Parts: sequence; structure tokens; C-alpha cells
Amino acid sequence: MRSPGAEPRRAAPPEPTTAVPRHALRAAPTRVRGYRLLGALGIVLSFVAGLLAGPMLGIDPGRPSDADAATVATVTAPPAPVATSPTLAPASASASAPAEDAESGPPECDGAKDTRRTTTARKTPFTVCGVALINKEHRVSAAYSPKLVTVDVRANGIPKVLLQPVAGTALKKLFAAAARAGHTLVVRSSYRSYATQAYWYATMNKQRTAPAGASEHQSGLAVDLAGIANGALVHGTTLARSAIGKWLVKNAPKYGFILRYPSDQAALTGIVYEPWHFRYVGIDVAKGVVATKTKTLEQYLRET
Ligand SMILES: [Zn+2]
Repeated sequence: MRSPGAEPRRAAPPEPTTAVPRHALRAAPTRVRGYRLLGALGIVLSFVAGLLAGPMLGIDPGRPSDADAATVATVTAPPAPVATSPTLAPASASASAPAEDAESGPPECDGAKDTRRTTTARKTPFTVCGVALINKEHRVSAAYSPKLVTVDVRANGIPKVLLQPVAGTALKKLFAAAARAGHTLVVRSSYRSYATQAYWYATMNKQRTAPAGASEHQSGLAVDLAGIANGALVHGTTLARSAIGKWLVKNAPKYGFILRYPSDQAALTGIVYEPWHFRYVGIDVAKGVVATKTKTLEQYLRET
């Protein structure tokens, strides 16, 4: 996130060496100045005539015509350096506005429409305000394969933990924090390819498993977690009632993870309660979901 201070500075306006025109004006012969005076008088007279004629012609004098706007632009335009500053100011102010919004709290999100119509387009996930949203309504194709890294954390039932680098780094911090709090976490599932998901869907509970292309495990941003307590695996619905499960719900957002499928939200998420499935969304969004007491990512992103 860029801070307003980090806004790239625009090139400084030209030095007032452009006093040349002024100097030239001063040095101009009296006759030239006389012509300029006459010209200025002509402009004033035609302006007054326009004011008088306006009502007769049905022109609203309150609304400057295009010609007026052009005149104003000419008058306030460079070369005078004083005039160049206001010209630059609005551009730099509008450029820094989003950064200020982003710093004031969780980013405001007005939703988005999924315009990916083809399988080729679905090679990248539907993204709302920078957050990938993958569900039965917004699927990805078999060609979607994010960059993955092996994450050095404890796994159970899988050979290795594969996640997108940003999620992997965050997960390691989450595991370290859990350890400091006296809990042992393990990953039971991380990245799953389209083909693996197709196999799982064919063989598993359809209410708990998304069809291929509709699982966010294919994004490498989701993990199924469990705990180990007294040498035994704490997993499934037991996790929700356990101390480690409660610790997770409370602390995962600090590291950018949210409980993705809360209870009684299947109508919105398409998946029944899964106390083990956590999704990396970034710290700002995770904290935003908590702060706004929003239950699902679909609602938080105002999916349309
Ligand atoms: Zn899962």
C-alpha cells in the first residue's frame, strides 16, 4: 500500500526564467502596447454585448459557454509558474486519494461482476477488490495454476504443504504464534489441482467438497487445519469445540486468514460449516471481515 508520502514527486514546474515574455512586453514599443489596449477594450466590449444579448437569444448567462471556458483556460495557463501549480495540484491530489482511503482502514469495496465468460478467461480467478473469490458461482478452469512454494510447517496426511508464497509466509507466522500460545497446528490439505479436486469430488461428501474448478484449494490460498493435543489429532467438527480451534478463530485474522465456511452460511458460500478450512485473504481484509462482523467473504466483497 502506498502512503501519500511515497507518491512519486512530479517534476518541479519550470523555473520562472519564463519572465522573458514579461521582459519582452516591457520592452515593446508604445505602439504595440496601444494595440494591446485596444484589443483588451474590444474583448471587454464584446463581453458586455454578450451579456446584454444573452437573455434575448435565450442563453443562460449563469452557464459559461465553451468559449468562456476556453478563455478562462487561456488566462490561467502557463507560462507564469504561479499558474502551473494549480494545474498540477488536482492531478496529484486525485492520484493520492485512493492511497489515503486504503490507509484509513479496510479498503472500501463496491463489489464487482464476474465478466469471465470463457474457460480461457477463467484461467485467472474472479477477483473483487484484489481478493480472489472462488466458489460454485465463480469457478476457475483446469489451466489455472498459481505459483506455489513448499511451506515448511507440520503436515498430516499429505506429503507436503503447497501454497502461494504470500500465504505460505503468513501460515508460518500463524503456526509460530500458535506454538507460543501452547498449541500445535498441522495442515491436512493445502493446494489441490483441478484433477485432484475432480477425484475428491467424485469420492467424497458432496456437501463438504466443491466440484473441480469451484474449490479455493486450487488457488493455493486455502488450508485445512487440525491440532494435536495430548498426542491425538484434533480435527473435523471436534476442532471447533477445542481450545486450539477457538484460538484459531480468534487469532487467524491477525495473520490474514479467515474461517471461510462458518456455520449456517451454506446458502451464501455453497459449503456447509467447516471449522478447519481457513483462507488467506490478507491482514487488511481479514481484519475487515472481523471488524464488520461479516460472516462470509461473499458478503464482505459485495459479490454481485
Ligand atoms: Zn478445505
